[in-house]
Amino acid sequence: MSMLNNFLKQKNKCLFCKKNMNIILSNFINLSSIKKPLLRVKCKKNEFNFKLAFNTPIDKIIDVSLAKDILTFHVDKDCNIDILFSAFNNIYPHIEFYCSNKKCKNNAYYIYSNIFDFEKIDFNKFKLKYFEKYIEYFSIDEYCVQNDFKDKKTLIYDRSNYNLLFKSEFIDFSKMTEDRMKNKIKSIMILS
Ligand SMILES: [Zn+2]
Repeated sequence: MSMLNNFLKQKNKCLFCKKNMNIILSNFINLSSIKKPLLRVKCKKNEFNFKLAFNTPIDKIIDVSLAKDILTFHVDKDCNIDILFSAFNNIYPHIEFYCSNKKCKNNAYYIYSNIFDFEKIDFNKFKLKYFEKYIEYFSIDEYCVQNDFKDKKTLIYDRSNYNLLFKSEFIDFSKMTEDRMKNKIKSIMILS
């Protein structure tokens, strides 16, 4: 099974309501950014198919697909694929899981994959080199929590201005109730 399919079938559940989360291909959103994302591509049968309007010397709309770890630009052979590929790479594409339950709106729970890292395998095809769960993110009370699965760190931000308040070894919230999470974070903030 491809790395991507393996990741998609994990059925990641929301930390708060325990429901299965929605899956999209998205671009990276900076925590402090208010810019709207460029990409919101839904997953259909383990595939992502979308059109990209590239603001590059090749100024046109391109069909792109990502399936079974392979990114394909559906273009003719004379197309300058390296310009397209680097334009795509520059928006930090990745997979995002999010909870669409209205009850969880205030907690804004997300899981992000790593930003895609590809190797070229054909003139218009690129293969994912690795793929993994990267960041878990949610809001609780006046804090935002970011769990970094790769560096095994937990970062806590001030929700109102995204200032970093606290950084520690990874805290696993997955087995905690919401009240326990709140208490845990409160006690951390009192001690820090
Ligand atoms: Zn939820």
